[in-house]
Formats: sequence, C-alpha cells, structure tokens
Amino acid sequence: LLSIQMGRMDVNLMRYLEGEHFRVLVACEMGMKNHEVVPLALLAAIAKIHRGAVSKICGDLCKHSLIALERGIKCDGYRLTVRGYDFLALRALCARGVVGSVGNQIGVGKESDVYVGGDAELNDLVLKFHRLGRTSFRRIKEKRDYHQKRKNASWLYLSRLAAQKEFAFLSALAARNFPVPKAIDVCRHVVVMGLIDGITLCHVDQVEDVPGLYHKLMSLIVKFASHGLIHGDFNEFNLMLLKDDKIMVIDFPQMVSTDHHNAEYYFDRDVECIRTFFRRKFGFDSEEFPSLSDVVRRHNLDSELSASGFTKIMQKDLNKAYDEGDFNAHESDEYEDEDEEEDDEEGDEGSDMETIKEEEEEKDEKDEEELEDEKKVGEKTKKRLETCSRFDAWLEEASKQMEEVVKEEGHEHVDIITHPHQTLPSVEEREYKSDEEETPQLVDENGDEVKEKEEKKEKRERNKKRTNQTVGTRSVMSVGSTIAPEEVKRRVAMELRQNKEKTKLRAKGKQSAVSRGRKSNRDTIGEYAGWDF
Ligand code: ADP
Ligand code: MN
Repeated sequence: LLSIQMGRMDVNLMRYLEGEHFRVLVACEMGMKNHEVVPLALLAAIAKIHRGAVSKICGDLCKHSLIALERGIKCDGYRLTVRGYDFLALRALCARGVVGSVGNQIGVGKESDVYVGGDAELNDLVLKFHRLGRTSFRRIKEKRDYHQKRKNASWLYLSRLAAQKEFAFLSALAARNFPVPKAIDVCRHVVVMGLIDGITLCHVDQVEDVPGLYHKLMSLIVKFASHGLIHGDFNEFNLMLLKDDKIMVIDFPQMVSTDHHNAEYYFDRDVECIRTFFRRKFGFDSEEFPSLSDVVRRHNLDSELSASGFTKIMQKDLNKAYDEGDFNAHESDEYEDEDEEEDDEEGDEGSDMETIKEEEEEKDEKDEEELEDEKKVGEKTKKRLETCSRFDAWLEEASKQMEEVVKEEGHEHVDIITHPHQTLPSVEEREYKSDEEETPQLVDENGDEVKEKEEKKEKRERNKKRTNQTVGTRSVMSVGSTIAPEEVKRRVAMELRQNKEKTKLRAKGKQSAVSRGRKSNRDTIGEYAGWDF
C-alpha cells in the first residue's frame, strides 16, 4: 500500500493507484500527450481494459480528483489533473527508491510548489513541483469553451520541461562548483534536490558584512556569465543565506544563455535586483557593478547543456513561455512531444475520432452537391484511412509506453512515510479562496493524536526560538507544522508582489534596452575577473 498525503490529500488515496486504476491513470497521461481530453474509448484501448471496467475506474479516479471529466463540444473525455500528475511523479520516485516520505510545504511560488521530504534513509530532501500552466488553469475555470481546453496539454508539457531544465542546470552547475542544491533526481514535473538549511535572503534583516555579501553576489552573477549563463531571476527570493554567511542559489528554469538576443537586458536586470535589494534593505549603494560586455567568457555551459538531452526545441518552447508568459507556446509548433519521434507528422489524433464522427453527421445534411464533390470525398476517405493507420501506430506506441511505465513504476508495495502535518491549501484553493481563513487540519495516520499534539507543541516552541525564518524542516521524523498558514499567505503575497515587480522591470527594460547608455565598468570588472570561478 502506498499512501501519500499532500495538501488535503486523502491518506489512502494511493490505494487507488494499484492495478487497473494505475494503468488507466498512466493511459490518461499517455493520451494527454496529444489530446486535450482523452475519450473513454481511447483510455480503454491504451490500457487494454474493457470499456465498462474503465468507466468505473474513471469514476473512482474522478472522485479523487486524479482525472477530471470534460464535456467537450466535439467529444467528452478525461484529462489528467495536477493532482493526478503529482501522484504519478511521486509514485515513480518512490518506486525508484529516491523518495521515502513527503512532508510539509516550504515554498509557494507562482510557478512551483516546494515540499520537504525524505529519502529511503530518512535524509532530508526537497521536492519541487513545477506548475507552469497555473495561469492557464485559472482561465479554464473561468471560461470553459473548447478553445480554452486546448491549454490542458501544455501545462503537462511545460511543467515537465521546466523540471528537466532545472535538473540539468543543477547538475551541471554543481559540477562547476556553483553554490547550488544537490540535484538528486527528476521525474515528470518534479525535481528532487538537497535541502538547504538556510534562510531565503528576503527574510534576512541583518548581515555582518554587507559589502562583502554584495560583492559575493555580484561575483556570482559574473561567474554565471563567464560560463555563458544568466540566472534570469537572481534576486532575494532565489538566494539563500546559510549559517556561515555562505550563499546558495536556487530556481533555474528561466536561465538563459549569454548568447540570448536579450542577454544584456537579463544580465542587467539580475544586477539591478541585487542593487535595489541592498539599497532598500541595508541602505547600501555601490557604484561598482558588473556589465555583461566586460565579462570574459571561459566556458560554454549553455551549449553543453543544450547538447545534453535538453534540446533546442525544448529550450525554445520554454523560453517562449517565459518571455511571453505564453504557457501554450509549444502548441503553435508542429510537433507535440519530444518523447515520440513520430509526433512530427501526427498532429492531433484526438480529432481523428472527432473528424470521423463529424463527417458522419455531415452526411445527413449533404445534397446533390455531394455528387459533384465525389472526387473530394474519395480523397477525404483515403486520407482518413491513412490517418487511421497512423492512429493505430500511435495507439500501439502509447500502449507499449504505458506497459513500460507500469512495469517500472507500478510496484504494488511501494512504501512511503508521511509524517502528519498541518494540511496546506491546494493549488486551486490558494487561487480561488485565498481570502478565506484556512482551517489547519491534522491528519494522523497512526491515530496517535496525543503524542502528536505534544510533539507539535514542542516543535512550535522550537520554531519560535528560531530567528527570522521558519524553514523548520530538519527531519522527516519531525511532526507538526513547519510553516504556518499565515506564513504561507505572507509568502504568496510576497511572490505576487515580486512577480508584479518582475513585470514592471521587464516592461521598463524592453523600452530602454537599446537606448540605455551603458557606463563602462571595466575597472569594476577587473576586480571580478580575478576572483576564483
Ligand atoms: P519558484 O519558481 O516557485 O520561485 P523556488 O525554487 O524559488 O521556486 O522555490 C520556492 C521557495 O521554496 C524558495 O523561495 C525557498 O524558500 C524554498 N526552497 C526551494 N528550494 C529549496 C531548497 N533546495 N532548500 C530549501 N528551501 C528551498
Ligand atoms: Mn523562486
């Protein structure tokens, strides 16, 4: 039995991911690769389970919000939910032995949810769930028309891309001695990394050596650039301060190459974020700051990375999404998924069935004109037959892939510990009910409530003693809340503010990118260049 709880997740929910339930969920994931919704018949075909049984299983999966039924204009079908995707990723990571427990949420961003967890040996780790389609999701709820639903597939695709990119960068950067969390694993949209026992810089009010920290950060920006990279979101929210004043950098999916046509703008923005923060927080203003043109390039991490699995097309999709805030960017391209080579020619197989149905319906309305169009109809039929055989090939491939996933991830006795914790609002709840009061709800697996309450109290006391910040996430054996609902709210508000600022900066930068006169910083850079990278 696999039981995981996250947010308000049912402890016993993972039970439904065994056997045929798991097959159907994976089949839905496969179908989502090129269908906005997956019709029941297709689920049955991929999973190779009788339609009647699939229908019942889908009912169960819907009840637990792992999939959702969408009533489309053309056809009804199921879509994988964020929760369903989370479960698939977690289950796989458990099956691999990478993750052994999931605990409290420690970070809330616009584009991710971050949880603390533990590996099989109960060592701390961090699970970052990428959520790139979040904005699209809201829009779907607001406006449930057919076109809006096309955005369904993109959140799966883009969230996965972001996770893959972040993992690739984490690994490559660590190998070059950048101060980043340890990359442990990646699965679907989830990156598993080491836990940083530190304080996010935005929560730091006092540091011993302000100029020293400033220079450390500027030199980091330069070090990135000397490797051909720009962090792209280098600010107090993505920097963590450790006990010994060591700095760690996090959050990499938006990294760009120094060859990017807007590289200078991104570089300057990173620099400006730090300058602004130091001015505001510490009253520290320095005329010394780097500019991209002065950085000596020593390595080509950017191209090394694009050669390693994270392809140019993937990069392009993701950049487009970040640049334009267009989380649907990839759909304007011809291909659908980089995993399947045949995809280029496939198009949207979901409409095959729809087209056939549509054409049949159209037949009733046709008159004599139809005879004149005989040739056309003949061509259409021919095309349809061709599409059908391509569809068969696709189906076969999807089925094959599903079997592989089931074999790899579908162990029936994956064990995962969930330490009882204060449940946090789910993504949707945060989006729609952010003004409502959250009722903390304790879920106790062992029924050992008294002990838990005591430990929770103890933990609270301990947290109170901590200065500034409450990343009290030391051990998977710990019990109780490590992040209070008010703290989550505060962080959400902060993230929103931050994102607003980002947008403002972006707009400003776009206007002035060309016209801005850059003052020479060669002297300053001389200083940075000598530092050990
Ligand atoms: P987002 O893209 O949502 O901003 P981040 O990677 O910045 O995602 O993570 C959000 C928050 O989660 C961070 O501000 C930080 O507080 C926390 N966090 C993320 N990764 C780690 C980690 N490896 N160790 C400790 N805390 C982390
Ligand atoms: Mn961040």
